[in-house]
Amino acid sequence: MAKVKVNKKTCINCGTCYSVMQDHFDLGDDGKAEVKKGISFTEEEAEEAISICPTGSIQKDK
Ligand code: SF4
Repeated sequence: MAKVKVNKKTCINCGTCYSVMQDHFDLGDDGKAEVKKGISFTEEEAEEAISICPTGSIQKDK
């Protein structure tokens, strides 16, 4: 399992993550993407999420 976070400072709300990976990401009240609460990522899902973000805002969390 992997932990993933969204860097809200660089997210431009392009919508890709919560369109493509609807089980894992949502649009937050602040107009930026966020990881859904209580969701865990497999390593493959984490790599996919990181790869689809055009601004590099999806990152592994420690
Ligand atoms: Fe933000 Fe990246 Fe998600 Fe686009 S794919 S909404 S830039 S976190």
